[in-house]
Amino acid sequence: MAERFVSEKNLRFMLYHVFDVESLLAYPLYSEHSRETVDMILQTALKIGRDILKPCFEEMDKKPPELADGEVRVHPTVRTLMKACGEGGWIAATAPMEFGGLQLPAILGSMCRFIFAAANYSGSVYIALTFGAAHLIISFGSEELIDTYVPSMFAGRWQGTMALTEPQAGSSLADITTTAEPTDAGHYRIKGQKIFISASDHNAVENVVHLLLAKIKGAPPGVRGISLFVVPKLRPGEEGNLVSNDVTTAAIYHKLGYRGAPILQLGFGENDDCRGYLVGEPHKGLGYMFQMMNEARIDVGIGAAAIASAAYYAALEYSRERPQGRRFTAKDPALPQVPIIQHPDVKRMLLFQRAIVEGSLSLLFQCSKYADLEKVTEGTEKEKYGLLLDLLTPVAKSYPSEMGIHAVSQGLQCLGGYGYCDEFPLEQHYRDARIHPIHEGTTGIHGMTLLGRNIPMKGGKAFQLYLEEVRSVIGKAGEDGELASQARELASALVKLEEVSRHLLGIAGKGETELFLADATLYLELFGIVTMAWQWLLQALAVRRQAKGNPSDADADFYQGKLYAFRYYFGYELPKVEGLCKRLFTSDGLTVSMPENCFND
Ligand SMILES: Cc1cc2nc3c(=O)[nH]c(=O)nc-3n(C[C@H](O)[C@H](O)[C@H](O)COP(=O)(O)OP(=O)(O)OC[C@H]3O[C@@H](n4cnc5c(N)ncnc54)[C@H](O)[C@@H]3O)c2cc1C
Repeated sequence: MAERFVSEKNLRFMLYHVFDVESLLAYPLYSEHSRETVDMILQTALKIGRDILKPCFEEMDKKPPELADGEVRVHPTVRTLMKACGEGGWIAATAPMEFGGLQLPAILGSMCRFIFAAANYSGSVYIALTFGAAHLIISFGSEELIDTYVPSMFAGRWQGTMALTEPQAGSSLADITTTAEPTDAGHYRIKGQKIFISASDHNAVENVVHLLLAKIKGAPPGVRGISLFVVPKLRPGEEGNLVSNDVTTAAIYHKLGYRGAPILQLGFGENDDCRGYLVGEPHKGLGYMFQMMNEARIDVGIGAAAIASAAYYAALEYSRERPQGRRFTAKDPALPQVPIIQHPDVKRMLLFQRAIVEGSLSLLFQCSKYADLEKVTEGTEKEKYGLLLDLLTPVAKSYPSEMGIHAVSQGLQCLGGYGYCDEFPLEQHYRDARIHPIHEGTTGIHGMTLLGRNIPMKGGKAFQLYLEEVRSVIGKAGEDGELASQARELASALVKLEEVSRHLLGIAGKGETELFLADATLYLELFGIVTMAWQWLLQALAVRRQAKGNPSDADADFYQGKLYAFRYYFGYELPKVEGLCKRLFTSDGLTVSMPENCFND
């Protein structure tokens, strides 16, 4: 069983040298923290990962949650985890201090979630969901809602969920039919059904708090009629006790992977006694929910990169130990076999994984830093960071999700036949990773969001800001002889991205919306590759700065390895831009014009 699931050295490099976390700690909002806090947070998160989450990684998969006698039973470690994370302040790590949080920068919250998810993805979601739901109540709920729900959620005694999806409303939330009927007592009567709701009932907590989307009777049609409610499984009774709130678990889903977390079908108000408490104003629910959805999208990217990280270290360990075959330069069968890591094709597979894991993590930390900067700045600066975060969220969700699967697959491939068998963790990582392009919006939906909404938004302002960010890194790298050729390659890819964007927006301008968005998923892929190249150039610049300071031998290996992964990304992945641009310029509407019946035999 592979023990290592993340690189502490890489996390330190990213935090201190690429993203300069200490510059964030200079802002009053984060001034309670210092480099010592960051080190302590990193060490404790690694300890939770190693001591609580990792030991039950396999068992949570082999003994998934069960629904029996109306109760959902999860692995006993979930209780230990929720308690430890509640008592240690980990659920509320990035929440404001006035609500019992540690007020850590988002980038440190992302680091913790990366460590937890790499140790055990299923285990990590209980905490992330509870924070997201409590944060939503803090942002938009009344004082009464905050006082009633947030402390127990942050303490790890109550689980939080996001309850959006319904049988007829997955990607299309406009079509939800769960209803909320106002009552004279101030609460709403909720009625409806939700499906696929993660961690939405289990015996490791005392209560579950659903952040649920529903339509108030008589609301406008579509998304403009959606409201947000707090709907607890048990509601506070008149004597301060908790009483049933008419929320039932109808079914548990049996999944390909990510089996340690229960995903359930829920019924609300089957006995007309389910109370929902309105969050904020009526009909503005989807707008509020976007806070939790966008946080969850970054979390999905983090989870995807984290699973790929654990798979990479398992594959690396195996590749160092597995003797097989000989080098082409020494084929004498009398010679001992060499470890497979010496074969260039195995090094290629390992480099691919490292390039995806560390490039994705860089992008996710970049987004988290934008979230932090948006919080601590004002005026046009604030607007800039908000727009950049908004623009990049679909990319940060989708690129690690899609490419994480390929990375894990290459990790599995390093193990040959053993990769396919359950003595090694790769097959579980492969199954676990598959959820990410599906939940929190499918890749197809994110492609359309990026191209159809984010690129044209505010007259293309976010896209222009993005181009400036990338160009600024290209400019710095261009001054370094070692990085200048990659800087030129990225500059040329960026021009192609601009040209493709202009071409596609031209189609939109003619009103041909279906043609405009037909290959939006490919546009998202193109955008993702260019964005990752930017992040790799940023890391290479940081390596070059560090390398000037006489690193120790161990650090020198790490920095050299970084530069190999950087060169790998530019040499093997960035050229894919050519093929994607060719397709995106074609715009022949092949998929638009093909009649459905041509799929008939
Ligand atoms: C393990 C798991 C956990 C989940 N957790 C939660 C949770 O906690 N809370 C919650 O609310 N939901 C949750 N979900 C639901 C998840 O968010 C949805 O499955 C997802 O949004 C897709 O919806 P759907 O399954 O109905 O697929 P559909 O919307 O039916 O999509 C099917 C396919 O059609 C494509 N498609 C759909 N519409 C369009 C369109 N207009 N244009 C082009 N292509 C389109 C999609 O891209 C996809 O490939 C979870 C799902 C799973 C499997």
